[in-house]
Amino acid sequence: MNTSDLYTQHVLPTYGRFPLVPVRGAGCRLWDETGKSYLDFCTGIAVCSLGHCHPRLVEAIREQAGNLLHCSNLYQIPQQAELAEEINTHHVRLAGKIFFSNSGAEANDGLIKSARRFGHKRPQADGKPRFEVITFQQSFHGRTLGSMSATGQAKIQEGFDPLLPGFRYLPFNDTAAIEAGIRPETAAVLLEPIQGEGGVNMATPEFLRAVAAVCKKHDLLLLFDEVQAGFGRCGDSMAWRMISPEIQPDGISWAKGMGGGVPIGAFWLSDRVIDDSGTALSSLMGPGSHGSTYGGNPLVCAASLAVLKEIRQKELAAHALLMEVRIRETIRSWNLPVITAVRGSGLLLGIGLDPALIPTPEGKTAALVVVSKLMEHGLLTPPAGPNTFRLLPPLNVTEEEIDEALAIIKTALAS
Ligand SMILES: *Cc1c(COP(=O)(O)O)cnc(C)c1O
Repeated sequence: MNTSDLYTQHVLPTYGRFPLVPVRGAGCRLWDETGKSYLDFCTGIAVCSLGHCHPRLVEAIREQAGNLLHCSNLYQIPQQAELAEEINTHHVRLAGKIFFSNSGAEANDGLIKSARRFGHKRPQADGKPRFEVITFQQSFHGRTLGSMSATGQAKIQEGFDPLLPGFRYLPFNDTAAIEAGIRPETAAVLLEPIQGEGGVNMATPEFLRAVAAVCKKHDLLLLFDEVQAGFGRCGDSMAWRMISPEIQPDGISWAKGMGGGVPIGAFWLSDRVIDDSGTALSSLMGPGSHGSTYGGNPLVCAASLAVLKEIRQKELAAHALLMEVRIRETIRSWNLPVITAVRGSGLLLGIGLDPALIPTPEGKTAALVVVSKLMEHGLLTPPAGPNTFRLLPPLNVTEEEIDEALAIIKTALAS
């Protein structure tokens, strides 16, 4: 039986999958079972930050797999401790502590649990705990019950109610709405500095600063979801630093690009003191408060350590910025009316399309039509919302590969 028939018979149909069966990857390239090669600007949705089968990553995985694949978090895992130090010292560069999960949704669940703990420690005037987390329309925080409830998109939640209570979705980049939107039960604000799945929408510096000021004024946690945007993808170690580098968040979540392809996520809590008795925020998640059997095991931590060191030592965040300039200048020079905007930062870019100029069959969005066309021409890209497709190449993509991808885009859109 071929792969497609096996899927139909045995795998839950939660994804509308393209008829593409990848079997091998190297760098920016992916090959399917028929031997056709693609330029991969999807990278497992911003996961393979070093491209496919990068030698440093492959070697780290090989070596660790031969020494010790897994052991319990009941014991001390040197790779996990070293990875936490690498992240704190070189990427976050603020005092705090990290919990390792297996995915972005789980990392966000950890932030939500931390906000609830904080709301117990710093309750309302009448002593009732605060619990509400404000998030934003068009956000995406994951598919677990908690992270789905945090997500400000009705289509993600359809048919799964009752949702986890304690979330309210405000309009993104609306300073007045956040300033007027705080209630006595509010404990935290969670946002993507650059929304990915929601269409690649960047927070403005004014908005991000207003959110930070509101958090300070009302004693709320400021939480950033950097699951897609973090670790160099947007042109700095962290995406919020591309917008307002002076801001110091209380919590951060990551996954996707930090593992380069192995399943790892994490959340970070600041060591900031939150009361008069000197309690650190990071101390609220003490022994017994949270856990994960797989989270931060030796294999995934050794892999992530190799990825993050390569990103830092080869200055791939700065390279992402250079490639962004190349992409923007080339697209501007085409003057194609079908492209309405290039949004985002570094190598998290959304190309906005004018749906009126793209013939779309019933039930298909302009983004899906273009993504399918690009695939035919040998370029893989993910959509983001109905009228945007994303460019998410590996952070070490070359100028030649960028030019090759742009040529494919130009040809496909011109037709
Ligand atoms: C992908 C994504 C998630 C969910 O991550 P999973 O690993 O799929 O659970 C959460 N937040 C953002 C911003 C994402 O892009």
